[in-house]
Amino acid sequence: MKTLSHFINGQHDAGQSGRHTEGFDPATGTVTTTIPLASVEDVDRAVAAARDAFVEWSETPALKRARILFKYKALLDAHQDELAELITREHGKVFSDAKGEVTRGIEIVEFACGIPHLLKGQYTDQIGGGIDNWSMRQSLGVVAGITPFNFPMMVPCWMFPVAIACGNTFVLKPSERDPSASIRLAELFKEAGLPDGVFNVVHGDKQAVDALIAHPDVQALSFVGSTPIAEYIYAQSTARGKRAQALGGAKNHLVVMPDADLDQVTDALIGAAYGSAGERCMAISVAVAVGDVADKLVERLTPRVKALKIKNGMEPDAEMGPLVTAQHRAKVLGYIEDGIAAGATMVVDGRTVTVPGHEKGFFLAGTLFDNVKPAMNIYREEIFGPVLCVVRVPDFASAVELINKHEFANGVSCFTSDGGIARAFARQIKVGMVGINVPIPVPMAWHSFGGWKRSLFGDHHAYGEEGIRFYTRYKSIMQRWPDSIDKGAEFTMPVAK
Ligand code: NAD
Repeated sequence: MKTLSHFINGQHDAGQSGRHTEGFDPATGTVTTTIPLASVEDVDRAVAAARDAFVEWSETPALKRARILFKYKALLDAHQDELAELITREHGKVFSDAKGEVTRGIEIVEFACGIPHLLKGQYTDQIGGGIDNWSMRQSLGVVAGITPFNFPMMVPCWMFPVAIACGNTFVLKPSERDPSASIRLAELFKEAGLPDGVFNVVHGDKQAVDALIAHPDVQALSFVGSTPIAEYIYAQSTARGKRAQALGGAKNHLVVMPDADLDQVTDALIGAAYGSAGERCMAISVAVAVGDVADKLVERLTPRVKALKIKNGMEPDAEMGPLVTAQHRAKVLGYIEDGIAAGATMVVDGRTVTVPGHEKGFFLAGTLFDNVKPAMNIYREEIFGPVLCVVRVPDFASAVELINKHEFANGVSCFTSDGGIARAFARQIKVGMVGINVPIPVPMAWHSFGGWKRSLFGDHHAYGEEGIRFYTRYKSIMQRWPDSIDKGAEFTMPVAK
């Protein structure tokens, strides 16, 4: 049994709230960790440490900040397996997938190593006689990140490496379901030479989140999680004049055109719908079968869904691990029952599965529904489990119309061998991240991640250049020197001469 602590001002900190929650190994269903839940005072301590550290950190040249990031990247590389195991043991996803998550997190650190170049300003010489104008971006101060359970390393890495590289200091409130990776991330950053107080981690629930939103020293909040909480955080933060970006839930469609290579589509759907037990914000949860493709597609998918290797994620040949908690498993089961009651065709029923030696684990097998209709809850709402719904539409235009009507617009994909269809799809679809013959189009670190509509509240996507903009303020400076001032007061709008 492990007792976790917060990480404040470069030290482990037990917290003073007296409140705790239990962390589980979802594969065995046993309690493995005691996790402190921060009080307002605990949050205050973390924010105060970050505010004090900001004074020097924001004055540290970007090149020196980058050198610490380079060391951090090397340390993260060296600890990949350890970080991945922490993730698998708390989240449940299979170890190889957890390693993939660690890699995608490290790639953001790698991107942030380029910060001296990324913060370069713009300069115009001689905008008027003896006057120059330049612009630059400056850090904000203390910024906070609140992250979900499903990517306990990658999603925090969307935020803190970029924010810290920009000269801000950071308070992370990770998910209380799987918070161990975030503490290891903080310890390794300190080992790389990061000054105390620049990166702090507080565990907690709504109380900690509300304290971060209300704190006058927190300048900006980044959130990733479910849509109702994203909307709440965006509204509460912006009402206080704070900068906020809040990424929410998803319902990602994959359009299967009649000319698509169905073997490729089947592989893509099996990985994208059932990988990580469907607990990915970019998981494909709806296959939109166009024209006459549905029967052939369902025929191919069925044996593959039945053959998924469902095991403890630490087993080398596991393809799908358990769901994160018993409560989440119950919620997904509820959706499956709702789908049956609503009249969808149950093709593969994943409600019962036994994993030998793991009888108390939070496992579900893969479920496949056909003939799902847009009015059904299993189509409209995010299930966040290993459930794939097939919706049949007559043509390409109906597929685009269906997707564009959905309230979520995180990721989408289209499989086709027709370049014209691919181009039309990419242009017409109202979704933030689009894949053409790519099922999970998560942008690389130097692009930016984000959905549209109720999948993202705010103006900026995460990481990449959008991240740099979010974590910095724009300043324009105009300058001339006394010997170039040769006239008296001016009462007209200055224009270039
Ligand atoms: P969640 O919304 O329950 O929790 C996210 C964070 O918010 C956690 O840190 C949690 O402690 C905190 N929180 C929970 N309830 C709160 C409340 N009432 N007030 C304030 N804070 C609260 O999400 P989750 O279950 O951890 O993660 C799954 C969700 O995250 C899914 O909806 C998924 O689509 C979404 N997600 C979205 C993206 C994206 O990029 N759009 C990425 C990953 C996950």
